[in-house]
Amino acid sequence: MFVMPSGVGWIEVICGPMFSGKSEELIRRLRRAQIARQPLQAFKPKIDDRYHAEQIVSHSAVSIDARPVADCAELARLIRADTRVVGVDEAQFFDDDLVPLVERLARSGVRVILAGLDQDYTGAPFSPMPQLLSVAEQVTKILAICTRCGGPAGRSQRLTAAAEQVEVGAGDSYEARCRRCHDPRAEPTTAELF
Ligand code: ADP
Ligand code: ZN
Repeated sequence: MFVMPSGVGWIEVICGPMFSGKSEELIRRLRRAQIARQPLQAFKPKIDDRYHAEQIVSHSAVSIDARPVADCAELARLIRADTRVVGVDEAQFFDDDLVPLVERLARSGVRVILAGLDQDYTGAPFSPMPQLLSVAEQVTKILAICTRCGGPAGRSQRLTAAAEQVEVGAGDSYEARCRRCHDPRAEPTTAELF
């Protein structure tokens, strides 16, 4: 990790499949900014009208306070003038307006750290992540462990039959798989569901 002079904004992206540790890594970086007493704000998308905990929580149960926001406009409105570090989890759930927003923040001297899925369950690029990867100064792609073979896993296997790109609130319906073990067209078997 480079050490940037304070006041120089930039964009970091943490990407990979589900269970790869994206939220953990985002939380780790935000905690270190807290230790350095840098004013920070963390956000996550409100993906429907259900209750949202005001926290980013990893699968390994580490957490940090975060504000759920409906869209990029709400996120932009909530940024405080003194904020030096902005964290965004589940960046793939925002629309393309996230790209100019984080570029504007970086230009104004904010360190922006985004975590999100770079691929959907079919293995296709998950917008706006490809654009964010392009404009970022630093990209970290992490792999999970394939639940089938134990190898490094870059893909998220959907275990249900839903066809939408995003199946909201269905964290249990996915698992990490490597390229060889991933099957985007797989019909779930009972064994995979339970
Ligand atoms: P992500 O945000 O990428 O979905 P999290 O940061 O929430 O990932 O969780 C990562 C943690 O999930 C790991 O540290 C590990 O404890 C746990 N985990 C569960 N299943 C797997 C897997 N198949 N591969 C790697 N880590 C896993
Ligand atoms: Zn595998």
